Amino acid sequence: MTGFAASSTEPQELTEQATQPLSQPTVSQPTVAQPSTQTSSPSMAQPVALSTSLKSHPSAPEPQLPTNAEAWTIEDSEELYRIQGWGEPYFSINAAGHVVVSPKGMRGGSLDLFDLVNSLQQRNLELPLLIRFSDILEDRIERLNGCFAKAIARYSYPGVYKGVFPVKCNQQRHLVETLVKYGKPYQFGLEAGSKPELLIALASLNTPGALVICNGYKDREYIETAILAQKLGKTAIIVLEQLEEVACVIEASHRLGIKPIVGVRAKLSAKGIGRWGTSAGDRAKFGLTIPEVLTAVEQLREAGLLESLQLLHFHIGSQISAISVLKEAFREAGQIYVELSRLGAPMRYIDVGGGLGVDYDGSKTNFHASKNYNMQNYANDVVAAMKDACTQANIPVPTIVSESGRAIASHQSVLVFDVLGSSDAPGMEDVITPLQEGEHLIIRNLFETYESISLDNLQETYNDATQFKEEAVSLFGFGYLSLPERARAERLYWSCCHKIQTLMHQLEFVPEELEDLEKIMASIYYINLSVFQSAPDSWAIDQLFPIMPIHRLTEEPTKRATLADLTCDSDGKIDQFIDLRDVKSVLELHQLQPEQPYYLGMFLNGAYQEIMGNLHNLFGDTNAVHIQLTPKGFTIEHVVKGDTMKEVLGYVQYDSEDLIESIRQQTEVAMEDGKISLQESQMLLQHYERCLSGYTYLSSL
Ligand SMILES: *Cc1c(COP(=O)(O)O)cnc(C)c1O
Repeated sequence: MTGFAASSTEPQELTEQATQPLSQPTVSQPTVAQPSTQTSSPSMAQPVALSTSLKSHPSAPEPQLPTNAEAWTIEDSEELYRIQGWGEPYFSINAAGHVVVSPKGMRGGSLDLFDLVNSLQQRNLELPLLIRFSDILEDRIERLNGCFAKAIARYSYPGVYKGVFPVKCNQQRHLVETLVKYGKPYQFGLEAGSKPELLIALASLNTPGALVICNGYKDREYIETAILAQKLGKTAIIVLEQLEEVACVIEASHRLGIKPIVGVRAKLSAKGIGRWGTSAGDRAKFGLTIPEVLTAVEQLREAGLLESLQLLHFHIGSQISAISVLKEAFREAGQIYVELSRLGAPMRYIDVGGGLGVDYDGSKTNFHASKNYNMQNYANDVVAAMKDACTQANIPVPTIVSESGRAIASHQSVLVFDVLGSSDAPGMEDVITPLQEGEHLIIRNLFETYESISLDNLQETYNDATQFKEEAVSLFGFGYLSLPERARAERLYWSCCHKIQTLMHQLEFVPEELEDLEKIMASIYYINLSVFQSAPDSWAIDQLFPIMPIHRLTEEPTKRATLADLTCDSDGKIDQFIDLRDVKSVLELHQLQPEQPYYLGMFLNGAYQEIMGNLHNLFGDTNAVHIQLTPKGFTIEHVVKGDTMKEVLGYVQYDSEDLIESIRQQTEVAMEDGKISLQESQMLLQHYERCLSGYTYLSSL
């Protein structure tokens, strides 16, 4: 295992070479995602929820996975949760077995996340808690700009890089303001994809020379606002995404008597792959086809505005996991840029959009949760492609703009939440009751199956046990088995499962059929969180985020679990977790201890999750804090309190005064009927009112 401190500036840095030419496939073996086929095995539905317990965990004696508590080290935890793969240089584990945050990356200083959470809780900031580290944001901006600076030096590129942050990725005011502040030395700008985002960008960005890129659907008001902003000294570039916008821009320019700066968004033929692959290609939602680009050029020329056309933009999708796809896009765009110059436009900027990926599972592959290149490779490939295209055509190179959202914002926040309780699969019998004279054949079969289980017949005995159990159920249905007999059969079945599972972990390679067993036998951990609110992409598009305990990492996690959230929705769960190869259906967690909190962290979720969350079951925004490292520890820069019930109810048009009044009137009636005492009615009203101004999540304090 490589030492944490030994890595270079960019965590996934392997080489700073530009990636190889397209002809040489750089793609590492694609690891194909196993769609988590929900086994509708009947045993899936019933076994759980037998011992749901809040906080304390008095579950039946239960066979643990083979443990060797003494031998478990933090290195084992590092390997299990792959924290170096996805977390370097920001997240690691300390000797106390707690997750440590090093928000300044390699520049030193760190915080014990577990201690931090405890001290925030003492300040009445309840879980779930979203913790944002401003220093990580700063580090990401520096890193991206550093990679481009290095690439520019390496290829002697006679131009500059000026990045912008796409506001849609995380619109939170404190985050955008922090970003503008730390981006200042690099003239880092903002990208708007809508009118409200334009309003944010124009008000927040006060960096001379930084760009405001205006994307998305535009109406007259949007366009005129962008043009007028030039009078405030802003470089607002209107990117034409639809042909109709050309006329609108020409009109607005004539009306205002101001020359706009205009770009075109081209639909490249290079297609992204994976989830966001449809952002590019001829049928993409946005952008002009090549014939439309030519039409736009002619329309601008006729209107005397060709000199306004200075930027070429493309965006082939987000989280592009294969560098080959990016390289192809850069090459195609380089040629379009050259051609636009040849047509007489005074081209100055190439905007390569987003797509720079994040390695969520740390595997460095072109799996959708990963990427097979690093930030430096990316910068090198952009710079090299533009230099090649322009040198060959003998035109000046453009200023390079990128709109990296995910790569900038993902790392800066950690969502910490607590586990409220758990339930296990039915336990095995401590002592298997020996076979009695005259027991039913099916019970004898199950008993003998149990006895015969050994390392070399796991799959066979598992199939047998499953089949016998199903037969027992149908025999019961026909009246051939009594209720106690059926219970005996089921207990034997679960005992078989436990025995097989315990032995299975000694195998090097687990056969696919036995992986099912892992799911069936998984515990369920109930988490104080709404997946719909805090990790919508996990629910909506099966995105993987690294999840792990933030303490107890010196102990072996002996349970294997899936996570169920607070909502009453069966989709409110997490049952896919990062793994080196593919995904895994259970997460290794520690046995809950009575009266001891158990905290989990979800990492790399700073991009897109906050705004797309929804109010399913009326769980609102979580508490959020902005933490900055200081020489002595940390300061809390901002606290953003999560939604109260009053606020959440307000979103669906319930007025809290009316609600209270309704309850009050009902208590009066009930009192008159003698159904409730005065004291009880007062208590009910007090609870009701207190709830309204409280947090929507469960209180763990
Ligand atoms: C969403 C989006 C981005 C950001 O993409 P990331 O992959 O998060 O960097 C950039 N540009 C445009 C036009 C977008 O729609």
